[in-house]
Amino acid sequence: MGLVVQKYGGSSVADAEGIKRVAKRIVDAKKNGNQVVVVVSAMGDTTDELIDLAEQVSPMPAGREFDMLLTAGERISMALLAMAIKNLGHEAQSFTGSQAGVITDSVHNKARIIDVTPGRIRTSIDEGNIAIVAGFQGVSQEGKNITTLGRGGSDTTAVALAAALDAEVCEIYTDVDGVFTADPRVVKKARKIDWISFEDMLELAASGSKVLLHRCVEYARRYNIPIHVRSSFSGLRGTWVSNEPLGDQQVEHAIISGVAHDVSEAKITVVGVPDKPGEAAAIFRTIANAEVNIDMVVQNVSAASTGLTDISFTLPKSEGRKAIDALERSRSAIGFDSLRYDDQIAKISLVGAGMKTNPGVTAGFFEALSDAGVNIELISTSEIRISVVTRADDVIEAVRAVHSAFGLDSDSDEAVVYGGTGR
Ligand code: ADP
Ligand code: ASP
Ligand code: MG
Repeated sequence: MGLVVQKYGGSSVADAEGIKRVAKRIVDAKKNGNQVVVVVSAMGDTTDELIDLAEQVSPMPAGREFDMLLTAGERISMALLAMAIKNLGHEAQSFTGSQAGVITDSVHNKARIIDVTPGRIRTSIDEGNIAIVAGFQGVSQEGKNITTLGRGGSDTTAVALAAALDAEVCEIYTDVDGVFTADPRVVKKARKIDWISFEDMLELAASGSKVLLHRCVEYARRYNIPIHVRSSFSGLRGTWVSNEPLGDQQVEHAIISGVAHDVSEAKITVVGVPDKPGEAAAIFRTIANAEVNIDMVVQNVSAASTGLTDISFTLPKSEGRKAIDALERSRSAIGFDSLRYDDQIAKISLVGAGMKTNPGVTAGFFEALSDAGVNIELISTSEIRISVVTRADDVIEAVRAVHSAFGLDSDSDEAVVYGGTGR
């Protein structure tokens, strides 16, 4: 008998009908002779609504109580899903992350899983139950507090459980038919990818393709767990993400895997920084001490007349306030003039292992943006990715232009988006 871990995202369980539909799929997997462990997200936009509510009672909700609040979303969906399965005549038991043995560090709101001890889940499925686990949450090893794994964290719960239970596959059910060459909400002509390597998927996820969370792909690669991303609304085969293609998984030897975009970041510019050793170190130590993760960094050439330079970097908008406050507090110690905060930016990235060996990709990317009249503000590259920052207003046009320029547009069916609000 095989063991499968299935994860259903919020849009798949957005209402009672959705929960009943998903319950049928789960029961079918069980009837096919599998042991089934299900990880479920909060219904629809519940997590966003809980955040909105928290912001009405406290300007910057964070920490222990915020995690207590947010984990309530997944508790609702796990219990309802277990009830719907029982209604179909099958046994199901729901578990919180803590009960499922998801052990994390103590960093509230973006905890990392450090161990998974799924004894209770194993017992439950061995007794013939379908186990339903609340995604996105765990319990800290020190302090035994309830933690959350960061937005989209149910994907990571699913892969972590799949690894700990030695599952054959981790199926991620969502509101599109798989991983596409661009977000199907933005590019109707995006193509579904049949198979993609962990390497390319990691870059797409890190660049904003939220169909899979970056940490989840990292985890899957480390433990070599194949992921099958597919729709909970259609019976279609989705996208396989793994080290090597298996069996009949189609591999396209495309230079480019896809285009990702991200509007969740902001840009901070530190203006008037003395151009001498130690300044950048002092700025980024301040940011690090505030536990803020940064993404791109650019330092301008200093003006000879003043000996001063500007340093810009991007970071999640959700961390903007924290970073600005930390830098303001250290302004005289570091010795810069002022700070500029800009949250009207977008990041557009082109990803593909083929660019390592194909010259001209960067030129083609910049030409496509220029033809679309899109101005580039920052640039960063890795071996298999090129990213630029542009104005947020330009993002849709830019993604479509780059997608077409690299011949990624499909000439058949338009990509289907079955649900979700894109929030
Ligand atoms: P879930 O609620 O199932 O976790 P998410 O909203 O987190 O779903 O992720 C699915 C969404 O990811 C899709 O609806 C789509 O808009 C978005 N997305 C972004 N980039 C891609 C891509 N390259 N392929 C497929 N979906 C993508
Ligand atoms: N419900 C959480 C969120 O919206 C976790 C998840 O859906 O994966 O971020
Ligand atoms: Mg998600």
